[in-house]
Amino acid sequence: MTALNQLTLTQAREGLAQGEFSAVELTDSYLGAMEAARALNSYTAETADKARDMAARADARIASGDAGPLEGLPLGVKDMFATEGVATTACSNILKNFVPTYESTVTSHLWRDGAVMLGKLGNDEFAMGSSNESSAFGPVVSPWRREGDATPLVPGGSSGGSAAAVAAYLCAAATGTDTGGSIRQPAAFTGTVGIKPTYGRCSRWGIIAYASSLDQAGVFARTVNDAAILMRSMAGHDPKDSTSVNLRVPDYEDAVGASVRGKRIGIPREYRVDGMSQEICELWEQGADMLRDAGAEIVEISLPHTKYALPAYYIVALAEASSNLARYDGVRYGERVPGKDIIDMYERTRAAGFGPEVRRRIMIGTYVLSAGYYDAYYLKAQKVRTLIKRDFDDVYAQGVDAILTPTTPSPAFGIGEKGSGDPVEMYLQDVFTVTVNLAGLPAMSVPAGFSSDGLPLGLQLIGRPFQEETLFSLGQVIEDAAGRFPVEDLWWSK
Ligand code: GLN
Repeated sequence: MTALNQLTLTQAREGLAQGEFSAVELTDSYLGAMEAARALNSYTAETADKARDMAARADARIASGDAGPLEGLPLGVKDMFATEGVATTACSNILKNFVPTYESTVTSHLWRDGAVMLGKLGNDEFAMGSSNESSAFGPVVSPWRREGDATPLVPGGSSGGSAAAVAAYLCAAATGTDTGGSIRQPAAFTGTVGIKPTYGRCSRWGIIAYASSLDQAGVFARTVNDAAILMRSMAGHDPKDSTSVNLRVPDYEDAVGASVRGKRIGIPREYRVDGMSQEICELWEQGADMLRDAGAEIVEISLPHTKYALPAYYIVALAEASSNLARYDGVRYGERVPGKDIIDMYERTRAAGFGPEVRRRIMIGTYVLSAGYYDAYYLKAQKVRTLIKRDFDDVYAQGVDAILTPTTPSPAFGIGEKGSGDPVEMYLQDVFTVTVNLAGLPAMSVPAGFSSDGLPLGLQLIGRPFQEETLFSLGQVIEDAAGRFPVEDLWWSK
């Protein structure tokens, strides 16, 4: 029999409903796996007592016929979501001892629907990064390895803990946040499904802010259907976030398995970037074939401003970050290093509390917003952002339903292999993902194939605003054609 923690969320939901096992047994199976997998460093906090208590209460509700849609399903939470009474650090020393007195809206939806919280999952510090290496808790290790090579690999970032934990069966599914690719890139690196919905679909209230006009909550799961289940609970209007939209949240599961016949799928010519590997090109073509075989129509499209997306993103995101992170001043939150006067205290606190990547971004962000440079950088980047959004509006106006691209330019890399000499090398990871956040669109990464050295690769589907359902339908076609990508070698528990 499959270990309980290896069931998909969909299977676990069924097993609980049928009384094949209890929520406490399911939770214990995860807690055991988490203990055996500490070498992966995916959790920043394990909340075993809370999990058992929540599971016992879920069992009681199942017994009395009051089960919610996620009743008894054990989940992990990215450490960017405020969780009441549980340390929430953004993986930064500056928030090391921060225990919120409130719960983020997204996680409160999960608990409302009966889910069980297993703990908090690691990320790059303040979600800034593509490899999880900037976390104050040290890097998360991917459960995947190259064939015949024990080099520890990154799970991607910034939501690397979520991706690793879902792939390694350390939670049934997890939350993530995505500002420029932080759900989709780690999903691609770990053979998991990751969806970032349309900006405004989920409330940002209680999520630690990185770049507010780009941040969105989303899901990591082992299957497209699992992602649909979780997305439905997380989404929805919240009066506490004025950018959340008041639109009905569909039952996304209905879209999983729906026909994609006649859907027009755009292949953007500008995403054939210089130096893209042959295997990524082939994967992309195979993905187009999978959708064509299911009855979709594949059309070539142009998104002419794509090449400006990465520089525009790294101006807008960093400008917003410098402003958002101004609140960590040693007075209202987290750590304080005393100084001779208040300015000295601020400076010492911030120098000690923020890691090098966060400091770099605050400095760049402050620079692009400063008098004399604002027009040249920030304002220009905002104009470019409008042009990028218009590129998408134009292709959607021509009847394109969704766009297919690779998620990443390469498979997962080794810990320490990228970005230590030149941060831009790491920023290039986001070349296919940042356009989506700049335009506020929904997008999903689905496992679609393997690299020559046996690592999972993902394809990205980009949808029309608030048409996540199209992504669930198309994602299922790819999952059916490519198969699932389970981690088979549980090397860390041997
Ligand atoms: N890698 C990108 C960055 O560092 C995206 C991060 C994210 O989506 N949070 O900004």
